Amino acid sequence: MEFNREKFIDQLKRNESDWDFIIIGGGATGLGIAVDAASRGYKTVLLEQSDFAKATSCRSTKLVHGGVRYLQKGDVRLVREALHERGFLRKNAPHLVKSQRFIIGNYLWWEKPFYTIGLTFYDLLSGTMGLGHSKPMSKNEVIKCVPQIVREKLKGGVSYYDGQFDDSRMAINLMQTAVENGAVIVNHTKVSKLLKDSDGIISGITAVDMIDGGSLELKGQCIINATGIFVDSIIKMDNPEEKPLVRPSQGVHLVVDNSFLGGEDAIMVPKTSDGRVMFGVPWHNRVILGTTDVPVKDFVLEPVALDEEVDFILETAGRYLTKKPQRKDVLCVFAGLRPLAAPKKNSNGTKTKEISRSHKLLVSHSGLVTITGGKWTTYRRMAQDTVNIALKTKKLPSRPCKTKKLKIHGYLKNSEGIEWLNIYGSDKDKIFLLQKENPLYEKKLHEAFDFTVGEVIWAVREEMARTIDDVLSRRVRALYLDARASVEMAPVVAEIMAEELKEDKKWETRQINEFTEMAKAYILS
Ligand SMILES: Cc1cc2nc3c(=O)[nH]c(=O)nc-3n(C[C@H](O)[C@H](O)[C@H](O)COP(=O)(O)OP(=O)(O)OC[C@H]3O[C@@H](n4cnc5c(N)ncnc54)[C@H](O)[C@@H]3O)c2cc1C
Repeated sequence: MEFNREKFIDQLKRNESDWDFIIIGGGATGLGIAVDAASRGYKTVLLEQSDFAKATSCRSTKLVHGGVRYLQKGDVRLVREALHERGFLRKNAPHLVKSQRFIIGNYLWWEKPFYTIGLTFYDLLSGTMGLGHSKPMSKNEVIKCVPQIVREKLKGGVSYYDGQFDDSRMAINLMQTAVENGAVIVNHTKVSKLLKDSDGIISGITAVDMIDGGSLELKGQCIINATGIFVDSIIKMDNPEEKPLVRPSQGVHLVVDNSFLGGEDAIMVPKTSDGRVMFGVPWHNRVILGTTDVPVKDFVLEPVALDEEVDFILETAGRYLTKKPQRKDVLCVFAGLRPLAAPKKNSNGTKTKEISRSHKLLVSHSGLVTITGGKWTTYRRMAQDTVNIALKTKKLPSRPCKTKKLKIHGYLKNSEGIEWLNIYGSDKDKIFLLQKENPLYEKKLHEAFDFTVGEVIWAVREEMARTIDDVLSRRVRALYLDARASVEMAPVVAEIMAEELKEDKKWETRQINEFTEMAKAYILS
């Protein structure tokens, strides 16, 4: 199976009409829909304006979870659905989703019984799809698992299990799964216009190839708007009068060295000083701290962390960890925008925490199907609902959803472990083979990481990476693990990519400059 962007573009130019599904947006939601539609046997195409998972889908807390905090709010249905989806993801992508133990340190007498009861209920809601049992812990047990936890007034703790994953690697594997099921998928291709027939029904799209400036026109039955925080811009192409559906809420994370937790367990702070939930989660040999939840106005691909968000996370982490992270310890700061579906009557000033976290599906008079909200964990269910709704409104033959048991590309049992290459699952052996082709391919890209020259070549040939950002941010996670080191790696990555893509020195310089400029927002000064 080939994952070749240029061949896919040629295929689209030769085959402009008769698509069953045209999906706009290559984040978790759009890619999930492509997998669902293609695996049911529908002729499916997906267009992503930038790279797969470039927007919100590479900036999550990396949890595959039911959402303990929604349980606190009594939203049992939402939690149960997410816990079941968590189980499907763990089963279908065991190379990417692992079971992670979380520990809540208890500092007040009532916390242990309270969280033990709540988390036992959380376990029960997952039914047979549980990842492990929650249990109360003594003070010594907590300290053993989280050596850096603040011990003063610590009374004990409660542990529970949730899923943990790599979000952009999952997106790449979903793209490959969709292609293996017959879909045509291209990144760096922006939908610029919706086409309508003489009855005003949407019949296709036009798009611009953001790499060579070429244009595409595609016709099809079901046009799906899965553009996350950008759904309103597509809705406006359909009906300029339509009211906004989404309000973005910004969440920030900090990445620090794993010595700040000191063990393999994650911590969860159920109630920060302002009533939010905060996590400290081990991830690729680092720790992710976060997140915040701040309403913002701008709909951008590269949101920037606010200083107060950074300070809040450092201050909260400092309250629970003896080794208190400072600004200088932050290896990367990243911000993401949640596509929260606004309530129908949105009064100004509504707190983002109160806006619906479940997904919203709408079908316009002209037949545009829009899906937004939800979370990574529930992408499969969101896709199933979207395809079902689209089929109801169009005259396509109905076929059952197959994704509950569909293995995701790279599927490999027992491929967990701290070694980075395990993230590739069944592709790991192919990368080894590639590295053996040439001794240069085994060379590390930077002393801070195990990433090799061979992985850059793999990313270009097999995962449709076309920019330095595609490689360093979402194929290997260098930008997110150590932003400064990733900038230092940019020139060597540019050189390898230029050779693969037959680009010149000018391209290399432009790529290095663009990446360096972008990465500045990920580095704390
Ligand atoms: C801070 C934060 C933490 C989170 N943590 C978690 C977590 O731990 N677990 C969890 O389950 N969920 C989490 N989520 C939620 C989850 O990340 C999102 O729900 C999910 O990634 C949204 O995916 P999406 O595909 O809808 O949107 P996006 O990922 O934003 O994808 C939309 C895509 O559409 C593309 N697009 C836009 N316009 C066009 C156009 N004209 N043409 C073509 N393409 C276009 C964009 O470039 C983008 O790639 C978190 C979210 C945030 C913000």
